[in-house]
Amino acid sequence: MNIMTETRIIDGKAIAARLREEIAQETAAMDTQPGLAVILVGDNPASHVYVRNKIRACEKAGIKSFESRLPVQATQAEVTAEIQAFNDNPAVNGILLQLPVPDHLDADALIHMINPAKDVDGLTFINIGKLVAGDQSGLVPCTPQGALALIKSVETDLSGKNAVVIGRSLLFGKPMAQLLLAENCTVTSAHSRTKNLPEVCKQADILVAAVGREKMVKADWIKPGATVIDVGINRMEDGKLCGDVDYEAALGIAGAITPVPGGVGPMTIACLLQNTLRAAKQSK
Ligand code: NAP
Repeated sequence: MNIMTETRIIDGKAIAARLREEIAQETAAMDTQPGLAVILVGDNPASHVYVRNKIRACEKAGIKSFESRLPVQATQAEVTAEIQAFNDNPAVNGILLQLPVPDHLDADALIHMINPAKDVDGLTFINIGKLVAGDQSGLVPCTPQGALALIKSVETDLSGKNAVVIGRSLLFGKPMAQLLLAENCTVTSAHSRTKNLPEVCKQADILVAAVGREKMVKADWIKPGATVIDVGINRMEDGKLCGDVDYEAALGIAGAITPVPGGVGPMTIACLLQNTLRAAKQSK
């Protein structure tokens, strides 16, 4: 039997807007405007939308944007040269290579060309290593950083809490687990080979789902009162977006939950701006 709880809806849009406003105030008081370079290779329509949104967000936050658009047939050497030029440009504090890149390019090799001090996606080995080592000088991937901020908006003390992260990608699941571990949570990383996933999830005080499977997490996987962070973005048959959690069913069971859209998504860009500001301050 489920105990009915009043579920708090975590308003990622509002929290991200506040963060962006704080960043804008900080950049307005700086002598030099921070700069973010975005490299886009090819003509993936979704990537074009993401890049446009990032550039607009930069403008509003007082961050100068540098755009490099390369044709789909651009070679590894051409993209590398572009990264190198931004590495050498002192006006550029952050470099973002929009993923995915076309198949003929080696994305990992390109990412590792980025100067770690400008790696605002937090994907270079130096930044991943710093995160694992607990060295706070590194740049942390944006989406898990944003998800942690949302968790902290409803949880005052994470210490000793059971956290389950479903998904172990380098982009999200692994850094998310590390961030929760750094907050002294007892962390379980679940993935496609995890046995008894519903039971594992049911132990979670904090449940983070990042799989990419429509409404996979059912109401009876959720511990009553748990904080549920839904990272998944899935397009349903009717064209609408939904997360990895059966949101409607989770209401009344979860203590707090992020909606999709309007939860984790808006935090990603806000944290990208935050990382750029941070990189600019650290470069001084
Ligand atoms: P990914 O690289 O495809 O990783 C998916 C993970 O889910 C893998 O670790 C996989 O396990 C695990 N998985 C797959 N099927 C499973 C199952 N049946 N049970 C348990 N685990 C399962 O994806 P991602 O990049 O981490 O992204 C995950 C989702 O988050 C996607 O919907 C993506 O669109 C969304 N996302 C949103 C944002 C945002 O800004 N809101 C940012 C990033 C990602 P294995 O490792 O064993 O294969």
